[in-house]
Amino acid sequence: METQNRSLVDEREQLILAPHAMFSRDSAGRLHAEADHPYRGPFQRDRDRILHSSAYRRLSGKMQVFTGEMGDYHRTRLTHTQEVATIARTVARVLRLNEDLVEALALMHDIGHPPYGHAGEDALNECAAAIGGFSHNRFALTIVQELEIRYDGFTGLNLTREVLAGQTSRIDKSKAGLHRLLEVQLVDAADSATYDAHDTDDAIKLNLVSLSEMEHLGLIARCVQMVRAAYTNLTPGLMRKATVHRLIGLQVNDLVSHNSNELKARQFPSATAAMASDFVFGPSSEIEEMKGELERFLYERVYRHPRLVEIRRAAQARLKAMFERYCTCPDLIPAHYQPRLQRVGVQQMAIEYLAGMTDHFCEETYRRMFSSSG
Ligand code: MG
Repeated sequence: METQNRSLVDEREQLILAPHAMFSRDSAGRLHAEADHPYRGPFQRDRDRILHSSAYRRLSGKMQVFTGEMGDYHRTRLTHTQEVATIARTVARVLRLNEDLVEALALMHDIGHPPYGHAGEDALNECAAAIGGFSHNRFALTIVQELEIRYDGFTGLNLTREVLAGQTSRIDKSKAGLHRLLEVQLVDAADSATYDAHDTDDAIKLNLVSLSEMEHLGLIARCVQMVRAAYTNLTPGLMRKATVHRLIGLQVNDLVSHNSNELKARQFPSATAAMASDFVFGPSSEIEEMKGELERFLYERVYRHPRLVEIRRAAQARLKAMFERYCTCPDLIPAHYQPRLQRVGVQQMAIEYLAGMTDHFCEETYRRMFSSSG
């Protein structure tokens, strides 16, 4: 029965996927062998396991770029992740890549983010200098291999080797070189398209910059032009939304047309052949250049905005103070982490405990820690 149904997954993929896609039947499997599911393929199961994990849910309380005190309009790490997964799936579907694998990778890609985004990551990385530093991409692997407890007899979510390898390749992209599945590269490209669009949206909505201050940027100018050609007299709010809408559409269309042309020309017979080649999945050089210009602007004018710099500095100081306190008073770390603390050492455990916190929980814990002790 199971084998027969598993072959339904294979049959469907055979009909839908391009030859250069990653097929479920070619998966290298899981560390702990499992029977096939009656009707879900291995990557669909990975996707579901990530969705049901505790770390995934906590992304709702973690900031993307802007913090909770700045309002509740803007993206959180969770809504960013959902936008990435949606955009990545759209592109995967048109290019006939493996959508289940793409979704699993997208839902996982930021699961290791600590509170306070990259500012939090930098602070924890400094704290962890003596034990090899901290990287949210590496921590995602620790979460899905060690910290999430779902099964009797072993730790972690027991994900497929393809999903684990995809996440591993994010740790050091310069080293990852040319040996990444197309699905893995696609998720990176979708991540970039997503944050370029939503950071523009959030920054304008939060009044950190205005749309007119961004109109000299090639990509924004092109989108504004498209909006003006279609509408007259839009309110500023609708103007922003229509522009961001096109900013997503333009990048997605470019990913689809550029990569489908390249892939058609290359005719890879298999995922392995595509992986071994020098083909790089990404935006066309024209769009890539304009994205670079937009990202430099966002970096200067938004990510380094005085309001954000101040919030980040305070958050980093809190994380560092908490790290010191946990290291000198390990008993403050909850009892159920104590067995792991014995195994990995207090510094590592303090880093992991802090990295798992939501922004709000981190602030509350800090407040209790430093108000009761004086
Ligand atoms: Mg991301």
